[in-house]
Amino acid sequence: MTISAPPKSQLVDQFARRISYLRLSVTDRCDLRCAYCMPEKMTFLPRKDVLSLEELHDMALGFIARGITKIRLTGGEPLVRRDMMELVTALGRKLEDGLEELTMTTNATRLAEFADGLAAAGIRRINVSLDTLDRETFARLARRDSLPQVLEGIAAAKAAGLKVKINTVALKGINEGGIADLIAWAHGQHFDITLIEVMPLGEVDEDRFDHYLPLMAVREQLEQQWTLTPSDHRTGGPARYFDVAETGGRLGLITPLTNNFCDGCNRIRVTATGQLYACLGGNEQVDLRAALRSADPQAALDEGLDLAMRIKPARHNFAIDAHGQAPALARHMSMTGG
Ligand code: SAM
Ligand code: SF4
Repeated sequence: MTISAPPKSQLVDQFARRISYLRLSVTDRCDLRCAYCMPEKMTFLPRKDVLSLEELHDMALGFIARGITKIRLTGGEPLVRRDMMELVTALGRKLEDGLEELTMTTNATRLAEFADGLAAAGIRRINVSLDTLDRETFARLARRDSLPQVLEGIAAAKAAGLKVKINTVALKGINEGGIADLIAWAHGQHFDITLIEVMPLGEVDEDRFDHYLPLMAVREQLEQQWTLTPSDHRTGGPARYFDVAETGGRLGLITPLTNNFCDGCNRIRVTATGQLYACLGGNEQVDLRAALRSADPQAALDEGLDLAMRIKPARHNFAIDAHGQAPALARHMSMTGG
């Protein structure tokens, strides 16, 4: 007779928020160098510090056992990690066995190669980051002339049956003039699109606030040409949605610096080195790599998750001061995972 282990307790934080969504960064490396995300000469982590495929897999299973039902794989650029498809395939096997959704955020440079494999593994939706449709602006912003590959990757994803959502960082003086065109293009392809304000995460080569563009201003500009109606659509994330009458599509706006979206937060993040961050905008952290490399990884992982629930803060502490400045958190988005 086999005695099955009792079900483990779910992850609920001190503010009674049930945590069901894990964003897992599988690498801090990337083939682009988006100016708001990382410096041109970014120093990447030594490979030995990054979790192995087995560690990532074991950790993800540990999270699923504690009630995580959605995992988003991110980075850095997840598709530059060599053994990425092995992880996707392994986690795909947990779909309908605890895991309800497996997704990915990608810059799409390598999506043409991997779209079919992602769909075959059970991924249904992906987020693609695309800030402009103008090749020169792309090359300047991403510091790589990769727009053609990105568009090819997006087309391949669509052809593979993946539902694509476009994410766009709105940047004053860089892509702001092309945002309406980008929205119209996305809606023409039947993609949702979400705009996001630039956040103060890690040092980059320039002052991000030279390019900080409040989405209120973007919305006002768009409303001069389109009818934006607030929508009831919710994804459990921080975006607020609008239906655009003229394009027939949906537009999301994420305003981390000017709005507090923390009350309904259901997520935690883990870096490629196994550091759990309880909040994107805070420093509360648990070392899960140490747990995974300990004598009793299962128990240590559970203890780490319990600790994370105790330290998850009520809200992020991104804040703009009287001078319109926000103090940068030391880590880059490519480390914590977007
Ligand atoms: N490389 C993949 C990509 O670009 O989709 C996944 C990782 S990337 C860090 C995830 C998201 O974070 C991207 O949509 C990117 O635009 C966004 N991002 C990076 N740095 C940011 C920042 N400082 N403020 C706001 N968004 C940022
Ligand atoms: Fe790479 Fe994504 Fe950061 Fe751009 S935003 S540099 S694609 S990790």
